[in-house]
Amino acid sequence: MNEISPQQNGTGDAAPADLYAQIETLKQALEGERAARAAAERASEAKSDLLATVSHEIRTPMGAIISMADLLLTTSLDDIQRNYAQTLRQSGRGLLAILNDILDYSKLSAGRFELENVRFDLSELMKSTGEALGHRAGAKRLEHGVATAEDCPTHFVGDPVRIRQVLNNLIDNALKFTESGSVKLRASYAAAGTDASLRFEICDTGIGLSEAQKARLFEPYAQADSSVGAKYGGTGLGLSIAKRLAELMGGDLGCESVEGQGSVFWFTVRLKQAAPDSKSAAPSLIDEADIGPLAGHVLIVEDNDVNQMLIQAYLDNFGLTHETAANGRVALEAMRTKRFDLVLMDIMMPEMDGIEATKHIRAMPEPVCKTPVVALTANAMKGDRETYLASGMDGYVSKPVGASDLFAALAVHLAGARANQAVLG
Ligand code: MN
Repeated sequence: MNEISPQQNGTGDAAPADLYAQIETLKQALEGERAARAAAERASEAKSDLLATVSHEIRTPMGAIISMADLLLTTSLDDIQRNYAQTLRQSGRGLLAILNDILDYSKLSAGRFELENVRFDLSELMKSTGEALGHRAGAKRLEHGVATAEDCPTHFVGDPVRIRQVLNNLIDNALKFTESGSVKLRASYAAAGTDASLRFEICDTGIGLSEAQKARLFEPYAQADSSVGAKYGGTGLGLSIAKRLAELMGGDLGCESVEGQGSVFWFTVRLKQAAPDSKSAAPSLIDEADIGPLAGHVLIVEDNDVNQMLIQAYLDNFGLTHETAANGRVALEAMRTKRFDLVLMDIMMPEMDGIEATKHIRAMPEPVCKTPVVALTANAMKGDRETYLASGMDGYVSKPVGASDLFAALAVHLAGARANQAVLG
């Protein structure tokens, strides 16, 4: 069947032809708009992908610089060498913090920031935050304290990592701008319909803010004034990130301040309350004291030379023996002939990646298929954890790999392997 076109219409009536022309124009406009939207989406995706790639590419060597300085500091050094290594580590950490700020800010601006939704214990969060605060306030001879309102429940579902990030940011600022007196943190609670609202306040007796400074406080890149930036450093992104994070968590962030007397920075978040007896979603870490020194033979599967060296050095320090495979295929070969107590598995590798290699391991005969596999990954994006666990991995450690994260993961999964062996006899 032929479609009716204006030419075939043949009525000689001008109106339908005009109508067809209008429809055609409209169709073209719609198609143009659709194409433009698709192009914009592609551009936005490309930008985010670029950001993720750049992040990975900068973080990996940055992580290596910091970790190598860490390792250097565990060797015997004279005072001058120690001083150099400490400066190297501190500068590396500073640079990584700036990098993280810029990435967070870009993700928040692009609306690509995703929050976790996990169960957490507020009293634990307050306790660890209080310890860190105490440590640093003590070094400046400031009074300090942490208090939680008595009626405040303990168990919530939300993003404790981001709550901690906002808290740390506000505490950092309070400590930075307070030379005498105190820095105190307080948490309180209000029911908000079916949700809960938590309010955190950080009170300091620092330099305070003028009205003009207050007005510009949350503008990105704006320090209270440029002399403050010069004196106290920082990207000036911290507060605008903290405010956006608070807003993303359904709350807000603000401050009351009197110049020369001090400031109160507060932020609120909306959360779901969790039943106190439900099981924790996150695997609980085993107390270091309970496990003693680590023992076992570990297969390191990693294609990057520097990362290989770094992980080997960490495992040496933990007292573990190890072998290294440069990709998934080489790892599978090694596992056919030798027993390993645990596999540390990089994700992105040539020839065979970590996900595929893990699937192959799980298909191997017993007992090799039961070997714990811990992913080493630079892409800690939302959903990655699920992908790794679905491929048969037991856990993951984010890159840049830090000694304490790696130790904790090894402790949990080596202990798990021992428990399994005990059950199997
Ligand atoms: Mn890799």
